[in-house]
Amino acid sequence: MRASNNGSAAASHTLAQTLLDLLGAAFDAAVARAAVLCARDGKLDPARLDLHQWICYELALADADLLAGKTVVGVSVNASELDGALGAAFATDAIVSVLGRLQGICIAMEVDAHPLQRLAASDDLLRLRRDAGGPEFLAKLGNAVANADGEIGDVVVDEETAVARDAFRRFAKEVVAPMAEEIHRHDLTVPESLLQPMREMGVFGLSIPEEYSGSAPTGRENTPMMIAVTEALSEASLAAAGSLITRPEILARAPLAGGTGEQKAHWLPKLAAGAPLCAIAITEPDHGSDVASLSLKGTRTDGGWLLDGAKTWCTFAGKAGVLMVVARTDPDRSLGHRGLSVLLVEKPSHDGHEFTCVQDSGGRLEGRAIPTIGYRGMHSFDLAFADFFVPDANVIGGEGGLGKGFYFTMSGMLGGRIQTAGRALGVMRAAMKAAIRYAKDRRVFGAPLIDYPLTQVKIAQMAARFAACRQLTYAVARELDRGEGRMEASLVKLLACRSAEMVTREALQIHGGMGYAEESPVSRYWVDARVLSIFEGADETLALKVVARALLEAALPR
Ligand SMILES: Cc1cc2nc3c(=O)[nH]c(=O)nc-3n(C[C@H](O)[C@H](O)[C@H](O)COP(=O)(O)OP(=O)(O)OC[C@H]3O[C@@H](n4cnc5c(N)ncnc54)[C@H](O)[C@@H]3O)c2cc1C
Repeated sequence: MRASNNGSAAASHTLAQTLLDLLGAAFDAAVARAAVLCARDGKLDPARLDLHQWICYELALADADLLAGKTVVGVSVNASELDGALGAAFATDAIVSVLGRLQGICIAMEVDAHPLQRLAASDDLLRLRRDAGGPEFLAKLGNAVANADGEIGDVVVDEETAVARDAFRRFAKEVVAPMAEEIHRHDLTVPESLLQPMREMGVFGLSIPEEYSGSAPTGRENTPMMIAVTEALSEASLAAAGSLITRPEILARAPLAGGTGEQKAHWLPKLAAGAPLCAIAITEPDHGSDVASLSLKGTRTDGGWLLDGAKTWCTFAGKAGVLMVVARTDPDRSLGHRGLSVLLVEKPSHDGHEFTCVQDSGGRLEGRAIPTIGYRGMHSFDLAFADFFVPDANVIGGEGGLGKGFYFTMSGMLGGRIQTAGRALGVMRAAMKAAIRYAKDRRVFGAPLIDYPLTQVKIAQMAARFAACRQLTYAVARELDRGEGRMEASLVKLLACRSAEMVTREALQIHGGMGYAEESPVSRYWVDARVLSIFEGADETLALKVVARALLEAALPR
């Protein structure tokens, strides 16, 4: 069945574009007003930003929807009929969502919301909602998505990326997927039988330049390639495959941003080879989102530094042979983020849920995995450092790098955010395809579940969201490679991670009771998706401290 004809999809895109433009203008006006509310003496004021957090948060979420809406409408000209119809459905949903948020924001700011109310009741919006958001349209669309077995959301990538994506999809299906359930249900450590082929396929070197034995072209990035591989692996397992890439993605940026020539030559080829494996230790029990306040202490000693204190949630710390530790190397707390440095801690690799490393000097590092509802395979560890010695050679940037740890850490966060959007795509695709398979097999009240219009609408909504996030992720990936798109990387992280929760929720629901059974992979997709909005910039922190701040800063009256 055809989801729509090209003519009506094109008309919906034109209508959506007009409405997005109108909403864009209303959004800019709301941002300008919020900037005034949150400023004092011409500058953003932290106390006022906190006072108006809800407005800032809603603005950030609206911005993500607007960007995704514009992106899908923009690419729809060259899209297949099905993808074009999915784009129209997502844009309609985004318009309705942004309109609702902006109305709430205007009411909260005591700004006249009547123009938005008129837009909500306009013939244009009502027509769009009927043509590209109505139940009949969505049911046909869902049916078409099911007939295509969920193979939707085509993105333009170069040939090399397409070949790699196919190879990693095959590997994920044949090698990762058969082990994924066991790793999750028995909380196992990712086995060497998965890690070794991934080393050989270059998974750990995707963001490391070729001159350091990685596969990123020297002098430029290849973010779409990294996303394609991440997505393919995450479809089989978020925790035991797709997320393995995150650690070298973040760690490698530190030596690349500020490491000495020797450090780059020593560490980058090793990280690219996955030997040793690595882990990132930023979060502490008392400081997570607030990275500038980290307190793990580094004290100067003969030939290096002694680390004392705790880190938490350090994923893969057991198996890793090197940890990127952000430590406070200047005792003057008033320096804030300028007192932090990055140290590379070398340790033996351990399988399992607990480890203790004791140095000849008496220094100790103890690790204990935190039991979690999902994201199993690498284990996330509480770490306790006591007089743990790290040589001077392992301080990123040497003497010149002291106090620059915050910047080195942040340089990895950008890649971490877009990569996390790629991870969300993989989980969404797995969940959507599982829901389609189940809905085709399961009979309820005498008919296959997929034959019911409500199921079809749900499939269409999942597919439209997935396809939009995918378009946006790859568009932002290309922007990043041109040296732009920093803000957009945060927006796509926000949107894709929230969307993964929605899509996996609906996929589980379509499975009924079986969705709640551990034996159904969809229950794993759901618990795994839940973590995506927590790490790599928690949803609220990213929205308030990165997106809203940048929006308001740019809108301050000059
Ligand atoms: C499975 C898993 C794996 C992880 N892996 C790693 C890893 O490998 N390395 C690592 O260093 N960390 C890791 N983390 C930690 C993760 O990055 C942090 O959990 C995250 O940064 C949030 O910090 P927090 O948990 O301390 O929450 P908090 O900072 O205490 O925040 C609690 C809640 O408040 C919100 N919030 C924060 N600030 C504000 C504010 N100003 N106003 C309103 N709301 C606010 C947050 O968004 C969050 O929802 C991992 C976490 C998990 C769950």
